[in-house]
Amino acid sequence: MVKLTTAEAMRKAIDKARAVKPRVRVVSFGSYTVTNKQTGATYTVTCEKRNGERFADCNCKAGARGLRCYHVAAAAGAHIVLAAESATLSA
Ligand SMILES: [Zn+2]
Repeated sequence: MVKLTTAEAMRKAIDKARAVKPRVRVVSFGSYTVTNKQTGATYTVTCEKRNGERFADCNCKAGARGLRCYHVAAAAGAHIVLAAESATLSA
């Protein structure tokens, strides 16, 4: 479980996500699968909000050790767009 903080803290993971360009699928709001198109490896990322702070969890080796992997960065990007859209829809 990693805490999603600033884009600066996520920079390395975001840069890697931009380089790898994984495919992100929305399973449901807050649950995503991230696939590396080169290797075919797919990991599941979940995002949740606790006490106003965002957390994410990835089932890859790095994510299991609490590291900010690029899967989390890729899924968080999709999650933030979805969260903004649902906020617009419910407004
Ligand atoms: Zn991961």
